This record gives sequence, C-alpha cells and structure tokens, in this order.
Amino acid sequence: MTASTNPADEPLEALSPGGSVRHDGPARDRFCRGREEPGQRTGLGMNQESTSIETVLGELNPPQREAACHDLSPLLIVAGAGTGKTTTLAHRVAWLIHQGTDASRILLLTFTRRASAEMLRRVDAILRQLEGTRQGTAAGSTRVWGGTFHSIATRLLRRFGRLIELPTEFSILDRSDCEDLMASLRNELGLGETGRRFPKKGTCAAIYSRVVNTQTSLKDVLESAFPWCAEDLEGLGELFAAYVDRKEIQHCLDFDDLLVFWDALLDDPSAGAAIRKLFDCVLVDEYQDTNRLQGRLLKGLCPDGRGLTAVGDDAQSIYSFRAATIRNILDFPEEHPGTTVVPLEQNYRSTQPILDATNTVIAQASQRHTKTLWSERTSGERPVLVDCIDEDEQSEFVVETVLARREEGVALKDQAVLFRASHHSLALEVELANRNVPFHKYGGLRFLETAHIKDLLAFLKLVDNPRDGVAATRLLLMLPGVGPVRAGRMVEALLEKGGVISAWDDVKPPAASEEIWPRLMQLLKQLAGDNRDEQNVSAELHQVRRFYTPLLESRYDHAAARIRDLEQLEQLATRYNDRSRFLAEITLDPPASTQDFAAEPILDDDFLVLSTIHSAKGLEWDSVFVIHVADGNIPSDMATGDADEIEEERRLLYVAMTRAKNRLFVCYPQRYYFRGRRRSDAHGFSQLSRFLTDDVIACFDRQAARNADDRDEADEDLAADVTAEEIRRRIKDLW
Ligand code: ATP
Ligand code: MG
Repeated sequence: MTASTNPADEPLEALSPGGSVRHDGPARDRFCRGREEPGQRTGLGMNQESTSIETVLGELNPPQREAACHDLSPLLIVAGAGTGKTTTLAHRVAWLIHQGTDASRILLLTFTRRASAEMLRRVDAILRQLEGTRQGTAAGSTRVWGGTFHSIATRLLRRFGRLIELPTEFSILDRSDCEDLMASLRNELGLGETGRRFPKKGTCAAIYSRVVNTQTSLKDVLESAFPWCAEDLEGLGELFAAYVDRKEIQHCLDFDDLLVFWDALLDDPSAGAAIRKLFDCVLVDEYQDTNRLQGRLLKGLCPDGRGLTAVGDDAQSIYSFRAATIRNILDFPEEHPGTTVVPLEQNYRSTQPILDATNTVIAQASQRHTKTLWSERTSGERPVLVDCIDEDEQSEFVVETVLARREEGVALKDQAVLFRASHHSLALEVELANRNVPFHKYGGLRFLETAHIKDLLAFLKLVDNPRDGVAATRLLLMLPGVGPVRAGRMVEALLEKGGVISAWDDVKPPAASEEIWPRLMQLLKQLAGDNRDEQNVSAELHQVRRFYTPLLESRYDHAAARIRDLEQLEQLATRYNDRSRFLAEITLDPPASTQDFAAEPILDDDFLVLSTIHSAKGLEWDSVFVIHVADGNIPSDMATGDADEIEEERRLLYVAMTRAKNRLFVCYPQRYYFRGRRRSDAHGFSQLSRFLTDDVIACFDRQAARNADDRDEADEDLAADVTAEEIRRRIKDLW
C-alpha cells in the first residue's frame, strides 16, 4: 500500500473534487450509442492511439473484451475461479478512463485494501501502456475512488454525515472493541446475573451484527441462527438498545454502522443526491461475498443500474458467517433490469490437471451455478495428495518441497501454504523459523487484535475522540490500582464535561498510580493540543510508546517481541500525516499479523506466503500447499452444524485449490498428538476430508510425505526422546 497506488490513502479532498467536476462528458455520449462492435464503439481507426487500445484489449478473450468495453447499462460477470474476472474489471476501469470518464468519478469496491491496491496497480499499468509512459504513475489511476465498502463508507460519512446529524469526527470500533463494549453494558445492566448463563460478549456481538446486516428481526435471527439464545430475546433487546445509545453518546461507529449510515445517507434526499452525483461508474469485485445491505448500497448508488458492474463467482462464496449471501449475485439481473450477464469459462490460471481436480470438488456441491472450467494449458503435473504420518512430517514435507521448488527457480513469493484456521500453521511456522526460511503470514489473529497494540492505540484513539469510552476504559484499566468501577466513573466524567481531557484535571488517582497519573495527563494533553506541529502520527506513537513500555513490561510476557510489534506500528505510521485517517484505516483493514517468527522476514525480499484460505481470496501462486486437509479441519468441526455450512466449507477447499497455477499439493496428516509428538505419543487418528471423494482422489497422484526408510530413522529419533529410563524416572517422581 503506497500513497501513489492506493487512493484510499490520499486526502479526501484530493480525491473528490465534488460539484466542480464535469458530470456528463464525451464519455457519456459515446456510451449512449449502445452496443456496437468494440472497434466501432471506441470510434477508433488505425491511428496511433487506436493501435494501443486495441493492443491492450487484444489481451482479452472475446467475452472478457465484451465485458470490458460494455456500455453503461448494468453488467454482471459471473464466472469461475481464474477466468480473469478481476483482470477484466481492471481493463474495464482503464477502458472507461481512456474513453473519457473522469477517473475521480469511478468507484471501485474490493474486498480488501490489498485487493484495491493491486487492482489500481493493474489499472495504472494498463493506462501507462496506453500513454506510452514507462515511469511514474498514469494520469488517471490515482484519482479513482478505490477501497472496501467500509473504507469508502468512512470517507463518505466524514464528508456528508452532518447532513443526517452524524458527528463527522467519530471513532471506529473494531470487532473486539464492540465485544468489550457489549461486555461492559452487559454488566451494567446486570444481565449476567440472572441465575442462568447469558450469551457471552462475542455471541452478543455476532447476533447484533447479523440482525443489522441481514435487516432481520432479532427474534427471527435467534430462531434461525442462535436457537440456544432464544430465551434471552428480551435481555438481548435491552442490551442492543443500550449498545446503540452508548455508541451515540461516545461518537463511535462499529463496522456495521458504517454501512447502515451510508445506506441512510443514500436514503436522505439531499445527501443521497450529492453522493450519487459523485460517481459515473461503480464497479464491485468479489460480489458473491457481499451481504444484503451492501446490495442495497449499490442500488442506492445506481438506482437505475447505470454505470454499475458487479463481478463474482457463486462457487467461491465463503463469508456467510458475515451474512454474505449469494442471492445478491443471483438476484442482480432482477434487481437491475436490463442487466447483461457475461459468463467466462476459460481458466487462465491453472493447468488442466489441476482444474480437473478442482472441477470435481465443486461438481459435488449441491447448489451450483458456475460452469465447468477449462484451460488451454493441458499439460502439467497432476496435483499430489500427500499422506503424512503427522503434523511434523507435514511441516517437513512442505519446507523440503518449497526449498526444492526454489532450487528449480520458483521464488518463495510464488509459493503459498494455505490452511483453514490460523493456528493450523503454528508447527510449520516453527519449522520455517528453525530452517531460516523467511515467511509472511496473512489472516488469522490480526496484528491489531493483540492486546499490546490495542493498548498503544487506545491513547491515540482517546485524544482523537475523548468521548471514546472503549479507548478510555482500556487506558484507565492499565493503570495500577484502577478497577472497572473507578474507570466507569471517570469515563462518565469525560462525557459529562463534553469530551475534553481536562475533565480529568481534578481526578485524585489511587495511591498506586500517584506517580504515573500526572505524566499520563501531560502526555494526553500534549497529544490533544491544538498547537502541536503538523501531525506526525509516528512521532506521537513514539511518545506514547515511551510512556507505555514500562506498563507493557509489567502486564505481559514476551515483552521484547511485543515491543518489536509496537516499533513496527510506528514504522507503518510514518506513511500518515493525519491521525484520524491513520486510526480509521488500520482499524478497517488492519495490517497482516506480525507474529514473533515473522517479524524479521517482512524486511526480506523473498518470503514464503502463509495464509488462511479466507485471506487468499482472489490471489494466485505458482505452487500451492493446502495443509491439514482432514475432517474436523476442513470441514471445520466448528462448521458442521448444517448442510449449508458444510457446503461453504466445500467452497473454501475449492477456493484454496483454485489458487494454484502449476503445482498443487494437498497434505493430510493421519495422526494428531494430544500433547505434541515430542512430549507424548498419545494420539488420535484423523480422516481424510470428506470432500476428497474417490472421484476427486482419482485426479491426484498420491504419495507418502517420506519414504519408509526415512520414517524408520525418524521413529528412532522419536524413541530416543522418550527412553524407558525416563519413563521409570517419571513414575518415581509421582511419589
Ligand atoms: P478469482 O476467481 O480467483 O478471483 P479471477 O477470475 O478474478 O480469479 P484473475 O485473477 O483476473 O481471475 O486472472 C487469473 C489469471 O489469469 C491471472 O494470472 C491473469 O493474468 C490471467 N488471465 C486472465 N485473463 C487472461 C487472458 N485473456 N489471457 C491471458 N491470461 C489471462
Ligand atoms: Mg478475482
């Protein structure tokens, strides 16, 4: 992410020149001519420019090209993995700009900031090709409004929120902030004391989010998705009402609010009209993973469908736990009359042997709309199903094979290890660290969700919005001798005095904090002060870190590793000169986790990619290793509740396997040790994932991770760790 490629990082003003921008230009006139042959449509002859746009479009196949050069009537590209959906969308953006659409009037919605940056990089490359510029940035690309639904919502709300009486200065609560707020309200309302178990904070937050995102009543959501909480209907209603009020008082919005208020803006006649005037074209990638509310937002932005393009693959829908629904894709043509649907069937990513395997996996899905994919890359090695004795053997196999591929000329960055749950990679991370193989991990426990990072940010969040009770409470509870009751009183005092830090001037701190309190006040006032120099977010974080480090050391283990994380955050902040923007962006789309082992390799040029399957969406690598493909892991035993969940797990495996271009290894450990192999041989046996049916296995070569001789040697190693004498000694230790 750099300021030059990602307009989400640009100051809002630079991106949205508002009413002064030409609205209906030559682009519109051209589009109005309707559907003609691409050559005719662009009005291009054999001049220099036409050759170049033709060359660029020549990279696309006929349906891709049809989609890229489609007029402004609503367009839906529904196609399978690797068929060039994202590529086509990038070409469409470039084509629109080339045709005269003002880049700053194009809104490009992607699933992650990373995807947005990547897409805009591609657009930029195409435009530069057209302009004949090799260096620098093409004229248009940086002005496109690119980002996730949530980041675009934040920008629009800061700009237009006042029209619906929303404070334009607001804090954004991430998922765990919401849970913390739910927890404290739950206590305040005495809901945990009813003699029976009230749902935990995480469940409360999940129920709330589902209600908001599906726009369904609490009662219905409880009945359909959380039946074990049905008895708590009343208590939950009370809790959610208090939650909404508290966020209002504290000028905080959660992720769902961002979408809800954006929707409200669009409903408001003046705000809605102002926003609609901003954009000529709205394009969305990964549409299968949007929810009902996001579908409504598109309708609000483009009521008649004009300028709207959506792209997706129903076979890759993997976010239903966030209330995403493939109905958005299926209902799109009905929702937007006059839609042209363009299917794509040629896969450019994978070899045919890999596609044979992935097609067979998805063919067994009960609901299926996307057609079977084919590739011109008919030769290539068959995918390999690797039987591993246990997780250690799996890790060794992966590391050995990754290194062997590197010897063959495939960079580490072109290889990825994918897994269902973040903790599935822990053993591998240790093995990689031992062997000095640099890696970077995406997904899973986010960097921002670690306690020490949240602590550090609480200082900045509080000075940014002194009404932010979640940040204030977090900060106060770090201080020795301050408990929840005292913290609660102090947060109230802040709110009563209109949200200024000086509200704490008269506070008498508990004895244990007498020394630290004046220093804290001094720091907060300094950070909040108007007369601070031009905002330097990194320097502010540095100041906070100096204050916070002794607290960190007294509160947590592994202080050194945590301090490294704080330093990284400081480093990251150097790209920002606006504190609110920094806080919003990293809350909405946090950087990938910087695990202890991963800290160093981030600096390295080449590194192996480790990623949860969810975070691997839309990406591709030369070689892909899918690990832990055992029942219980995929499908996850957390998700085997009903048939729909199982289907989603199948699509997850499909997403994982379709990331591979040339080599695909699916690994299956047969044994899982209860306490780690080196500590005890007690183990259970696993079963190969149910999705790898005989038909699927027939598409694979099957091999053991190690040959039998190696295994015998390894077993000797293992035996040497636990000798009979050691066991006798342990028995003796028992008395
Ligand atoms: P996913 O479903 O995983 O999001 P996708 O449909 O968006 O995939 P892309 O990522 O756009 O597919 O493209 C997959 C690969 O195919 C990329 O490497 C891309 O460069 C290549 N590709 C796409 N279209 C063409 C084409 N017409 N000719 C050659 N290569 C192409
Ligand atoms: Mg894509």
